[in-house]
Amino acid sequence: MTTTPTHGAPPRFTSMDPATAEPVATFPVDDEAAVRDKAGRAREAAAWWDGLGHDGRRTRLLAWKRAMTRRRAEIIALLQRENGKVRADAVIELSVTLTHVDWAARHAHRVLRRRAMPSGPLMFNQASTLEYKPYGVIGVIGPWNYPVFTPVGSIAYALAAGNAVVFKPSEYTPACGKWLVDTFAEAVPEHPVLQLATGAGPTGAALCASGVDKIAFTGSRATGARILAACAPTLTPVLLELGGKDALVVAEDADVEAAVEAALWGGCANAGQSCTGIERVYVADAVYERFEARLTERARQIRAREDFGPITMPGQLDIIRRHVEDALARGGRALVGGPESISPPYVLGPVVLADVPEDSAALREETFGPVLVVNRVRDAQDGVRRANASEFGLGASLFARRGATALARSIRSGMVSVNDVMAFPGVPSLPFGGVGASGFGRIHGADGLKEFTVPHAVTRRR
Ligand code: NAP
Repeated sequence: MTTTPTHGAPPRFTSMDPATAEPVATFPVDDEAAVRDKAGRAREAAAWWDGLGHDGRRTRLLAWKRAMTRRRAEIIALLQRENGKVRADAVIELSVTLTHVDWAARHAHRVLRRRAMPSGPLMFNQASTLEYKPYGVIGVIGPWNYPVFTPVGSIAYALAAGNAVVFKPSEYTPACGKWLVDTFAEAVPEHPVLQLATGAGPTGAALCASGVDKIAFTGSRATGARILAACAPTLTPVLLELGGKDALVVAEDADVEAAVEAALWGGCANAGQSCTGIERVYVADAVYERFEARLTERARQIRAREDFGPITMPGQLDIIRRHVEDALARGGRALVGGPESISPPYVLGPVVLADVPEDSAALREETFGPVLVVNRVRDAQDGVRRANASEFGLGASLFARRGATALARSIRSGMVSVNDVMAFPGVPSLPFGGVGASGFGRIHGADGLKEFTVPHAVTRRR
């Protein structure tokens, strides 16, 4: 991403193909006045959109899904160029996105409609109703790693709940963001219900100060904390979907072959640049040798360019290198790859490390690359204890047979996949979000719809 000053006119910035450093698209850097103007136009559109009711919005959101489906070739190509995804990762991202638009459109009525509530013995002479009303205008700030799926987790649910949205895509993937807004405008041409604010530098902060009624931010912990502070003086509510350090626990009775494949998929999909990517693997002593041998063999067959793309942000390669070097300097063993695997803009193949001390950066901080740390633990309970010893708590995975439900329930995170990895984003009825440093609030499902509403209670004397 580069920024270009323009004499008198607003500065512009250009997104790049991370594999080739070739420019992809150029956009204006929206300043405070531009963002405020968009928020104002969104507010006017919000009244019309809310007035359509659930049926009117469902029809239009399903038309948006059809427009996205019709124009899928464009976004699959853009996800490959602007974000660096391999085609398989781009296709999966679009499929999951469409599932969420469909679910939000079809279920908002059931979850949010006005309903009679019991008034209780003390107030038996009252007739009570509860309704979930939209906030008005939601500011959505999205990340670059899933530039379509992740913002849609907020946008589709906010729209289905009756809000208008001003969307600020990441400065690394603005063209992917524009595709979302363009397809929506094609399906809903009447009013600018979904607005695009582009920029690099001042734009996110300008959106927080623009008078929107809620901010839904997906990104890093550090930026999330800044946004929370910026929204405090106006008491603007904030939804924070932040980073993760997801663990996979392999129990003594696990299907080892399946667990190895899952670890590799969870660690390498999207070049490891997933908030719910697997970065830590805790394997029970009874199956450790088998797991390590099979993982080593299979990881050697996986290659960048074919199986995953480049690292999208050039600076991230330095963080990945630091984590790998630090883990090795502290006595960790490299099972596959190592610092020599890092050849910008790629990590050439998965890096698999073992026996890494728990206080290493590679086990404490987000690495955001195809790096798996595999440590031996006594048994599944010991694995869960280590998994829980992280400030993050977004997702987690568990491979186990006996006692899997109880073990899964003891994991401190927002979501757990059992005998699978990263399964939860594909289940639209489930809430998505974390605990601790992974943020608060939920997108997806009924909780995700309610997140973009204010409960409104009426009780009337009979
Ligand atoms: P980031 O660097 O934290 O966020 C960048 C975005 O925040 C830009 O749009 C930027 O716009 C805006 N921003 C920066 N400072 C701001 C401020 N003071 N006020 C308002 N906005 C501000 O995150 P990222 O690198 O794009 O995303 C990667 C992170 O996202 C990872 O940590 C990953 O784990 C996390 N993630 C989480 C989930 C989840 O669901 N939990 C999903 C995907 C990714 P300006 O430049 O205009 O300010």
